Order: sequence, then C-alpha cells, then structure tokens
Amino acid sequence: MKTPPELSFPTVNFIQFHNANRNIFIHSTRSGRDWPAIMDFEPTIQWFQGDSGLSSHLVIGGRIARMVDDDDSAIHAGGANNLKSLAIEIVQPKIDTPFIPASLDLAAWSCAVWCLKYGIPPVRIFSQTEVGIIGHEDSEQGRSSGKSDPGPLFPWNMFIKRVKTLMLFGSLEPHILKGDYLKILGILRYVGVEV
Ligand SMILES: [Zn+2]
Repeated sequence: MKTPPELSFPTVNFIQFHNANRNIFIHSTRSGRDWPAIMDFEPTIQWFQGDSGLSSHLVIGGRIARMVDDDDSAIHAGGANNLKSLAIEIVQPKIDTPFIPASLDLAAWSCAVWCLKYGIPPVRIFSQTEVGIIGHEDSEQGRSSGKSDPGPLFPWNMFIKRVKTLMLFGSLEPHILKGDYLKILGILRYVGVEV
C-alpha cells in the first residue's frame, strides 16, 4: 500500500531499533493554547526536536511530519510501551478543539499502511498489552498519568471504519486504484458510504 506523503523532521529523541510494532498509540498535541488546531503543528515538531526528550513517529496537522523511523521507538507513552508501539500525534490544542478532517484522513491512511505492513488488527483496544489501535487515555500508562488525549471529540467509530476501508482499497493497488486514497474517500462519501 502506498505510503502517504511525509515531510522529514528528524529528532534525536528516540530509542534505536527496538520497535516491535504491536500497537498504534493515538495522541493529540494539547499545547493548551487558545488557537486553531493547525497552529500546534510546528511547535509540536520543535518540542520533539528539542530537549523535551519526547517524540512521536508522526505528527499530523493537515500534513505529516515523519520524526522517527518505524524501526526505532519514539518516546511517547512511558517505559516499555515505547518499545512496542507506533505513535501518532494529531494537532488538537485543547480537549474541546475540533480535529481537522484532513488530519483524521491522513492519520487513518498512516494507520492503514502500518496495519497492513505489521499485521496490526484495525481495532480499537483499551490495554497497551493488546494489539490494535489505542488512544493514549485508554492505555494503562495514560490512565495512571491522567491523560485525556485524544479525548471525546476523536471519532473512533468513523476512524476505525476508515482505516479498514483504506486497507481494503489499498490492497487492490496498483491495478485498480493507483493509490489515491483521499480521492477514494471523497468518492465513497459522495455515493453515501460512511467512511
Ligand atoms: Zn498522549
């Protein structure tokens, strides 16, 4: 399956060659700032490139910033979780800031690529010991540290459905669809398929 376009923003905040790729953590950026979601994109990248000691494989805000290779571990969810998880940070300054639809599209596309590549099931999970896709707030580590991301505005049902749809269509590539997934999503929505 074709990988979505990624901009490269490497960071030194990662652990080398340890990722077992068992699940995908969904975070939102939560700068706490009172500004539109997209404004969190660059400051989050700078935060992860600086001495925060933290990182994410991808930061998504209408575009995708690749910060850590899949084979390495990002530092995003405490201790051993980092070693078996892929991480996405989606821009959302506050718990009540709406997510940008394009960010959700790109995040679903990235998840679909990972699910196919690493055999991760496209299901929502509620324990970091399971395989699938987990919200930071739903993990044991997130709960014990009081995390609320990605929060109640994250459209889980739609998101998981979208990942599954993209996996299905992505597996047909290149003979039928030529990999233009966002266009495909648009067509499916146009004809009334809920994705
Ligand atoms: Zn988080």
